[in-house]
Amino acid sequence: MRRVYLDHAAGRPVDGRVLETMLPYFTQKYGNPSMVHTPGNEAREAIETARGRVAKLIGASKKEEIIFTSGATESNNLALKGVALRNRDRGNHIITSSIEHMSVINVCKDLAKQGFEVTYLPVDRYGVVDVAALEKELTEKTILVSIMYANGEIGTIEPIREISELVHDHGALLHVDAVAAAGQIPIDVEAEHIDLLSLSSNDIYGPRGVGALYIKTGTRIMPIIQGGGQERGLRSGTENLPGIVGMGKAAEIISAEMETESRRLAKLRDKMIRGILESVPVSFLNGHPTNRLPNNVNVRFSYIEGESLILSLDMEGVACSSGSACTSKTLEPSHVLLATGLKHEEAHGSLLFTLGRQNNEEDVDYVLGLLPGIVRRLRVMSPLTPKELIGDV
Ligand code: PMP
Repeated sequence: MRRVYLDHAAGRPVDGRVLETMLPYFTQKYGNPSMVHTPGNEAREAIETARGRVAKLIGASKKEEIIFTSGATESNNLALKGVALRNRDRGNHIITSSIEHMSVINVCKDLAKQGFEVTYLPVDRYGVVDVAALEKELTEKTILVSIMYANGEIGTIEPIREISELVHDHGALLHVDAVAAAGQIPIDVEAEHIDLLSLSSNDIYGPRGVGALYIKTGTRIMPIIQGGGQERGLRSGTENLPGIVGMGKAAEIISAEMETESRRLAKLRDKMIRGILESVPVSFLNGHPTNRLPNNVNVRFSYIEGESLILSLDMEGVACSSGSACTSKTLEPSHVLLATGLKHEEAHGSLLFTLGRQNNEEDVDYVLGLLPGIVRRLRVMSPLTPKELIGDV
């Protein structure tokens, strides 16, 4: 059976070149970078090389502005808690959006319990953050605004430059979760005046369990993990040397290959979206029609459940999802889709395909060949399907 993996938002393979670069750091180059002996120096140099590569991916000219973490969840926790708690003397208001990842939303909920006021900005039907609402909500008490660069679930790219201008006009700091966008579309933290930016290694074909936070020089932030003072005191704990080396290599590779690869993926994406909407009756695109990540296809089919579609596709060798990995274990529909104004049943009937490096046109053709039949079969079984539609298909 053909195997087609279309769930790159949830997990990516480690690039073979990345793995090769990492391997010596498990068994041969295992020095502790805090030490002054030769193995320690070698480890430190390897980390600094990785730091430089990650900095370059996002347009940071000073590599010291990159802090390695255990992943984007930690980066988001550090950015939000670290900035909120350190700047409490300046204000207690935080603004975020209703379509952020749970590692932003749940941290905000926790901060609200600690006395912070949190505003969740609405989005339009395409998932674009309401910039006018942001302008209205910004006050002198606002210390931090956290908006994602792009949403990995619906693919929508946010107007970060516009947001950044407003945030800085009001003297607040801007944190951007760029997990879904990094390595897919160009990011320039300096040109876009971003103060903090979260990254995840696996989302750029690096190993899991590593991430980074860009912190612009001069940003007032405090650590949330304390100990031996590694990573400029902002993230204590012996460095994950092979992981960091791997993330650095992944950043270097994706910086070089992004333009060509994103153009290739966007073509596959467009073929897939067009193919689905044309071949499946009563199907719709979720997310922005044009301003979307090159690898993202999120569609919904009336009258059926995304979960049963996933299982049917899995039986044919196709791996995709109904939304974020974080909510897929619950029966709750995606908070992102609900925020775009979809009803519960519409959100439940959605399917997310995220393309990646190993996908090609044959993969897309394979799915396009299967999907209309599967949707029809499930609709025939569904009590919700109008009779005329079944007759029609
Ligand atoms: N932010 C976004 C947008 C994500 O998709 C994810 C999950 N990959 C995270 C943060 C958290 O990343 P991790 O699970 O690697 O900590």
